[in-house]
Amino acid sequence: MIVAIDGPAGAGKSTVAKKLAERLGWMFLDTGAIFRAITWYFLRNGYPKRRDFQNMLLGLNIGIRDSRLVVNAVDIGDEIRAPVVDKYVSDVAATLCVRDYALQVEREIVQKHENIVVEGRDTTTVVFKDAELKIYLDASVDERAKRRFNQLIELGLSGITLEDVKRDIIERDRKDKEREHAPLKVSSDAVMIDTTGLSVEEVVDRIVNLVNAR
Ligand code: C5P
Repeated sequence: MIVAIDGPAGAGKSTVAKKLAERLGWMFLDTGAIFRAITWYFLRNGYPKRRDFQNMLLGLNIGIRDSRLVVNAVDIGDEIRAPVVDKYVSDVAATLCVRDYALQVEREIVQKHENIVVEGRDTTTVVFKDAELKIYLDASVDERAKRRFNQLIELGLSGITLEDVKRDIIERDRKDKEREHAPLKVSSDAVMIDTTGLSVEEVVDRIVNLVNAR
C-alpha cells in the first residue's frame, strides 16, 4: 500500500509522514530530499547553467540506505536543509530533466518496498497517482513559517528572521504552484487536512484511521 502526502512548504508533511511510517512500521520516502540533494550537488559543482543540468545529472547517483539519502555513496545528512538549498531548490525542481530524474529515483525506491509512506509536492498528482490513500496537508502561511523557522533554529542556524522565512515560503509556494511541470495542486481524490492548530499526533491519528479504514 502507498500512502502519498502532498501539500505546500511547512505544512508538516515530513514530520507527519515520518511519524506515520514509524507508527505503521512502514518505509518512509521524503521526495523533497531528492530535489534538495540534486540542488546541493549542483551547488557543490558551481551551479551549472540550466542547459547543462541534464549533463550534470549523469554524474549523480541517489539511493537510500537505512532510510537515509545517499548521494554518490555519501550520506550528506542535513546539508540539504541549508538556506542556500532552499533558495535554489524550486528553480531546480521546475526543470523537466530534474523531475524525470527524481521520478525515476522515487519509483525505484518505492518498488523495493511493500508498504510505504511517500511525501512531497506532486506525489498525489503525478508520481503516485494510483496511491491507495492520498492526503493533502495545509496550514496558514504564518503557521508554516513559524514551523520552518523553528526547524532551522533546531538545526543550529543563526542570523535568520521569521520574516525571512515567511518571505521564502511565500516565494516557494508561488514558484511551486506556477511552474509548468507538475505544479503544486490538490488532487480531487485527496483527503484535505488543515493542520493549523493541530498537533503532529492528532494529524497522524487521523491518517492512521484512514489507513485502517481502507
Ligand atoms: O518538501 P521540501 O520543502 O523539502 O521540498 C523542497 C522543494 O523541492 C520544494 O519547494 C519543491 O520545489 C521541490 N519538490 C518538488 N516535488 C516534490 C518534492 C519537492 O518539486 N515531490
